[in-house]
Amino acid sequence: KRLVVLGGGESGVGTAILGKKKGYDVFVSDFGKIKENYKEVLSLNKLEWEEGKHTEALVLNADVVMKSPGIPDKAPIVKQLREKGIPVISEIEFASQYMAADTIGITGSNGKTTTTMLTHHLLEQARLKVGLAGNIGKSFAWQVAEGKFENYVLELSSFQLDGIVEYRPHIAVITNISPDHLDRYNYDYELYIAAKFRIVMNQTENDYLVYDADDETITKWLEKNSIRPQKIPFSISGNVTEGIYVEEENIKSNINNDGFIMPIRELSLEGKHNVKNAMAATAVAQLMRIRKQTIRESLSDFDGVEHRLEKVLKIQNVQYINDSKATNTNATFFALDSMTVPTVWIVGGVDKGNDYDELMQLVREKVKAIVCLGVDNQKIINAFGNVVDVVVETGSMVEAVRTAQQLAEKGDAVLLSPACASFDLFESYEDRGKQFKNAVQNL
Ligand code: ADP
Repeated sequence: KRLVVLGGGESGVGTAILGKKKGYDVFVSDFGKIKENYKEVLSLNKLEWEEGKHTEALVLNADVVMKSPGIPDKAPIVKQLREKGIPVISEIEFASQYMAADTIGITGSNGKTTTTMLTHHLLEQARLKVGLAGNIGKSFAWQVAEGKFENYVLELSSFQLDGIVEYRPHIAVITNISPDHLDRYNYDYELYIAAKFRIVMNQTENDYLVYDADDETITKWLEKNSIRPQKIPFSISGNVTEGIYVEEENIKSNINNDGFIMPIRELSLEGKHNVKNAMAATAVAQLMRIRKQTIRESLSDFDGVEHRLEKVLKIQNVQYINDSKATNTNATFFALDSMTVPTVWIVGGVDKGNDYDELMQLVREKVKAIVCLGVDNQKIINAFGNVVDVVVETGSMVEAVRTAQQLAEKGDAVLLSPACASFDLFESYEDRGKQFKNAVQNL
């Protein structure tokens, strides 16, 4: 059978390797350029590939096609494949066909990476042989080809879920849902929500859905649609006492009836959103029958994730915080919410149709100065110009950080939480975060 892999990046190369191992005739086709290190891996594995084009004669004769998550459905080659009735699936779908063990699938608009890494940490500390994959690190397919792990915790984007057919996580997690990536969903929020809920579509009564019961988008969807898995809600609102919830500054759970309780102040991660992430990870660990003592220890010694409210340095008693991964206003909302001292806020980049109204109250309360860094500054100036005394524009990360340093006084914080995509001045959010950290270290 012929497997054509569209996209020669991490998930494409991993799929190609797994496909070859499983006896497929594999061809990798990338419309852009394939990175040198991936080309080497492809050659080493004697895999055929092309770049800079999709040769129809070599692609349209596939029996099955794996489309990398970065390629939109609108791409002409994908349309042609669909018209011919050739199945186009995601890496997760392909790889899971060769995985007997259970997986944990984690999706949501924000908090996926943090929750996935935290969950993985909890299970690993309990000595489970568990892999970490999906949107993170080495691709799932590649790891399945290597066969090292018994279980996997997978971070799943809506794009990966769009391409599943039979994939069934034993435990699904939806961290929250807010508008994001709408350009890929015809600007229809309902379609994006439906994409997220594809995570439950193949689940059975023996599986679980862990979800944020304070998130109205999620709860409304669940009221309207019946699903098979058992529902495990988590909530910080104080109204819910099912599943896992907060009472008097403690996380409590009745999932295993083992009396799990943990003071919020003992969590290593700060911020309300991280209480939610910790509850989601705890729910999974409890469903996997991890001892409560191990869970508590692991929640308190987790190191955190780079570029997510990452404390960089304290200089002259000003704390510099890198939240470069905040590429939408909802993520920035939680970053501002977690600030406990007057904050100089570095914001901006490529606007994704942001509505800054939801940040207004927090900005009023916490932000003493705004440093704009990006192409779409005018919208930020219009939104906050009357709310914050100082709003300045800068043209580079070094300039932004130096300006922020001048505006900050002892006891303040400087927070990079852009609420925007990074592709104007930077290669990626990682690049943006690294440049921030370098600029801070050079102060
Ligand atoms: P994702 O992988 O979904 O993008 P991350 O864990 O990388 O999520 O976090 C992305 C951004 O969202 C970070 O700026 C982080 O501070 C913020 N964030 C993390 N968890 C949550 C949450 N549960 N709700 C809202 N924002 C969050």
